[in-house]
Amino acid sequence: MNSGGSTVEKVPVSEVHSSMRRVRLARLSILAVCLVLLPAPGSGQTILDDVVIRAFDISVSITPVPLKYELAGGELRYTSRGTLHGTATAMVEVTAPNPVSTARFFFDSDVKLTSVKAAEYQVASNRQRDTLTLTFTPALLPGAKVPVTFVYEGQPLYIFNEFVLVSEGSLYPVLVSPFGDFSANLGRVKLKLTTPGGYNIAGTGKLLAREGDVLTWDTEVPVPWVAIAGGRKHAVRDKTVGGLTMQFYVPPGEDRNLDKLADFTGRAVGFYSNLLYPFPYSELRAVSLLIVSGGLGYPAFLLIDERAFRNTFTGDLNRDSFLFQLMAHEAAHSYVPSQTVPKGVGFIWLSEGFAEYLSLMAIEALLGPDAFKRELQEERNNYAFVVATAIAEPSIASITFANYHGRAAKNVIYAKGSLVLHMLRGVLGDELFKKGLAAYFSTFRGQAARVADFQTTMERVSGQSLGWFFDEWINEKVLPDYTISRVTSLPTPDGAFQTTATLRNLGTGQMPVEVGFVMDGDVQIQRAEVPSGGDVTVTATTPKPVKQVEVDPKKWVIQKDYKNDVAPVR
Ligand SMILES: [Zn+2]
Repeated sequence: MNSGGSTVEKVPVSEVHSSMRRVRLARLSILAVCLVLLPAPGSGQTILDDVVIRAFDISVSITPVPLKYELAGGELRYTSRGTLHGTATAMVEVTAPNPVSTARFFFDSDVKLTSVKAAEYQVASNRQRDTLTLTFTPALLPGAKVPVTFVYEGQPLYIFNEFVLVSEGSLYPVLVSPFGDFSANLGRVKLKLTTPGGYNIAGTGKLLAREGDVLTWDTEVPVPWVAIAGGRKHAVRDKTVGGLTMQFYVPPGEDRNLDKLADFTGRAVGFYSNLLYPFPYSELRAVSLLIVSGGLGYPAFLLIDERAFRNTFTGDLNRDSFLFQLMAHEAAHSYVPSQTVPKGVGFIWLSEGFAEYLSLMAIEALLGPDAFKRELQEERNNYAFVVATAIAEPSIASITFANYHGRAAKNVIYAKGSLVLHMLRGVLGDELFKKGLAAYFSTFRGQAARVADFQTTMERVSGQSLGWFFDEWINEKVLPDYTISRVTSLPTPDGAFQTTATLRNLGTGQMPVEVGFVMDGDVQIQRAEVPSGGDVTVTATTPKPVKQVEVDPKKWVIQKDYKNDVAPVR
């Protein structure tokens, strides 16, 4: 866990949404290196979906201990560890047209594999740090459906009295692609969890049964991963908002914002249900946690920074629109990557950039245009930080699990990533954009989707070719900077006014951009397109005198400098 999880540290806004995932990403980058060094044998998995897991049946018991840690060189180091015992049966299916002998899993090196068995096969296991490779003899034939049972025990983070958070990879092994990427695997997960008495620990999905301290959870639909979270002090509070049944796991006395956050979550889910498709789970849970800086979104399972519940974020982060966005972003993860699972280049953007823009759209719809403007501006500020400081800014497509580190990469994904979707909305118009987004989510519901799938869907719905847009903003990187270099305005013989403005693009890229001719209480919009380094003249005839001309008055387009967008008519 990164030190951002410490309670004393101020978490920059840009980093708030997903620091937890960094742990896994770091592990995956190690994994990627291992795979390069140790190429797969001939009949191993060769593509991402040679092997899929259709279902998991997991039985886990945990024994928490008091939380102990020390700060060593600014890094938080845990000096106590709770224990986990588990048995997981994975229903492995071969989807490759050829026999497959090896399958790879991400499995926390803090958890020891005691045994792995599959009836009628010999299974050999090999551990390289967090990578578990299984070799089957004989090889699994195409179409084979084989239950594989793992027995394991260990001391993964975070099994403490104060808080518990154990997720995929530690709770159970998860399939990864031969390239070190997460597989686009979707499987239904049933989890039986045994805890000591006096704990309230939530699992992912619907609570099927409670027998004493044994709880059984079921995800109801196939999902990419699950987690458990809660603690000894956590109390369970039921909330229903807009027909959505929710449970909040929050320690008493640390729940100042609970009603508000429940309301925000329920309304955001309602918004997504209308925009995309009805919320695919029957219950939603949110757990207040010390260790999460910001939040982490599992399928209908939100792990939220305790400061959100306590109203103790620093600076002005306790503002409604920020708290709303926090809950809405994590709730959006119930759709992506939980139902539409990104795949390939752009994986991280397809998940985080989309969750971020969905949360902004929810703010716009439910908190109004001012809150939307405010949070969009935060995204612009965060991206401006990248422009001002990054030595070599990566394109969105070049950010993968292997190089997703640091504030610049994060801001490119969240801030630029959401602004790119906002620009696409500007290009297509509100109606086509929303229609396209809904079509993408429903078409790829329960499936893996690539950037190209999103592009194709938006092109199909809008009837426009969008290759230029995806080239500029996803595959490459451009940064326009518009300015008005010259304005002249003259009255016409019939009492109107003719204004001509010279629009210049000092930056790179070529976007259609609006030019606003601003009159007293009125704006007339023209559209223009200026190549990098070029000039274009735009003329408008208006009934009233034009006072000033403004490029992109609604601020759709990402620019290097927004301060040179207005020129007065002299
Ligand atoms: Zn996220």
